[in-house]
Amino acid sequence: MDKSFPISGWSSVAVHGGHEQDPRYAHQVPIYASSTYVYDTAEQGMRRFSGEEEGYIYSRWGNPTMTEAEKKITALETFHLTDKNNSALQAKGILHASGMAAISTLMLAALKPGDKILTHFSLYGGTDELLQKILPSLNITAEIIDLRDLNKAENAMKTSGIKLLYLETPANPTIQCVDLEELCNLAKQYKIIVACDNTFATPYLQQPFRYGVDFVLHSTTKFLNGHGTAIGGVLIGRNIELMNGHITKVHRLLGGNANPFDAFLLIQGIKTLELRMERHCSNAMEVANFLEKHFAIARVNYTGLASHPDHLVAKKQMRHAGGMLSFELKKGLQGGIDFMNKLKMCVRTVSLGTCDTLLSHPASMSHHGVPEKERKKYGITDGLIRMNVGIENVQDIMADLEQALK
Ligand code: PLP
Repeated sequence: MDKSFPISGWSSVAVHGGHEQDPRYAHQVPIYASSTYVYDTAEQGMRRFSGEEEGYIYSRWGNPTMTEAEKKITALETFHLTDKNNSALQAKGILHASGMAAISTLMLAALKPGDKILTHFSLYGGTDELLQKILPSLNITAEIIDLRDLNKAENAMKTSGIKLLYLETPANPTIQCVDLEELCNLAKQYKIIVACDNTFATPYLQQPFRYGVDFVLHSTTKFLNGHGTAIGGVLIGRNIELMNGHITKVHRLLGGNANPFDAFLLIQGIKTLELRMERHCSNAMEVANFLEKHFAIARVNYTGLASHPDHLVAKKQMRHAGGMLSFELKKGLQGGIDFMNKLKMCVRTVSLGTCDTLLSHPASMSHHGVPEKERKKYGITDGLIRMNVGIENVQDIMADLEQALK
C-alpha cells in the first residue's frame, strides 16, 4: 500500500497495517524461518551491532514476520489517537512467546526490589500467581484491592512505594470492569505507571492509550489470533525511548521472544478482527439475554446487561461489551459438571477468543486446585461457567445451552 494514502477506517488498518511489500513480491508476508541474518561485509556487521545501521541480527532480537505483527497491533492500539501536542500517538510493540512472557518482561523491566504493584481481584490466574508467588522473592509485592472503589484506589496510591498500577478490564472470569479514565487520572497525580491487559476487549472494542495508560498488554493467543492456533503475547509502550532501550534489553535477555510461524498466524487472524468481534459481541448479547431469563441460572455476568454493576463503565470505554460472559448455575458444583457433560456443539475447554463457542467450569477445571475459600473470594463460585461466545449461528448456540440446562 502507498504510505501516503490516508487510511480512515479501522478495518483497513487491521488488513494493511504493518505490511511492507516483500522484496520478492510475495503477496503475504513470508515466514522468515531464520535464526540469524548475514552481513555483506564485516564492517556492515559492526554497523548493525552498534546500531548505526538498521537491520536484523538474530531472531531473539527481532524478525521480519514478527515485526509486521508488532506494527499491526501497535497501529490498531494507537489508531486515531493523538498525544498532548496533537500529533499522532507513537508507540512501540514487542511480540512475545506468550501473554505471560509479555507480562513478565514488563514486571521485570519496570520494577525493582522494594517496588509495589497496585492491582485488583479477578486478574487472569497466571498473572495473579506471578504477583503472589514469583515477584515477592524479588521483594516486589502487590496490593490487591477492589479498584472499582475509587476512594479505596486513591488511598492505596498514597501508600509509599506503589510504582505500577496493573489493570485488566474486562477481567477474567467475572467480567468486572474498572474505570480506565478515572484510575489513570489518579495514577498521574501520584506519578504511578499504568499498564492494562486488553486481551478480553481487543483494540477494536477499547483503546487503553486513549485514557493515558502507559503500557498495553495482550495475550494474542485469544481474540487477536482468533482461531486458537498459536500462543503469543505483546507488550506495547508509548515511551519509545524506554521501549527501544531498557524494555528491549530486558525482553532480549529474558528470551521470551515469539517465533515467525506464530507471528504469521497472528497476522492472518488480525485481518478479520473487526468482523469477528462484531459477531462475538452480538451473539454474546443475545446469549446473555437468553440466560438471564432462564430458570436454571442464578446470575449472568455480562457488562452488556443493565443488571451488571459495571455496565456504565463498560459502556463509557468499550465499543460493545465483548464476547466473554460468565453465569452461575443454581445447582452448584455438580450442576456445573452435569451441564458441561451435556454440551453437544459448544466445546468444553479453557482459553477464549476462538470462532467456536468455548465453555469452562473453573471450579472443576482451571481453579480445581485453588482452595474453595480463596476461589470464592475472587467470585469463582461452585456453579460458575465461563463462556467464550463464538461466531456460530446464535440459534444453534442457544439450542445447545438449552438442551444442556434441562
Ligand atoms: N491475560 C489474560 C486476560 C488471559 O486470559 C491470559 C490467558 O488466558 C493471559 C493474560 C496469559 O496469556 P498466555 O496464555 O498467552 O500466556
